[in-house]
Amino acid sequence: MLMTNASTIHLQRHHKRLCPCCGGTTLKVLASTLVSCEVVFDARVNELVVVSESVGDIEWDSSSQVECPSCDWHGQVSECLEVADQ
Ligand SMILES: [Zn+2]
Repeated sequence: MLMTNASTIHLQRHHKRLCPCCGGTTLKVLASTLVSCEVVFDARVNELVVVSESVGDIEWDSSSQVECPSCDWHGQVSECLEVADQ
């Protein structure tokens, strides 16, 4: 299981290098999730109005795409974990 919530991450005192290119410690994971909305047609404004929305679980794993905000490197989570293990 790769997912760790933010509070756990911030307890770590030393962040390992993750980016294979510049050694950056923070990367963006491009994850996807499903968002669903309930809508009604409001005759007063003559358009659909969202009355409630729900967001599904965010899913990502070692094959998810990541990018480095420092150097624009793109790759997979698994490549970064190899760097962190060294
Ligand atoms: Zn980088």
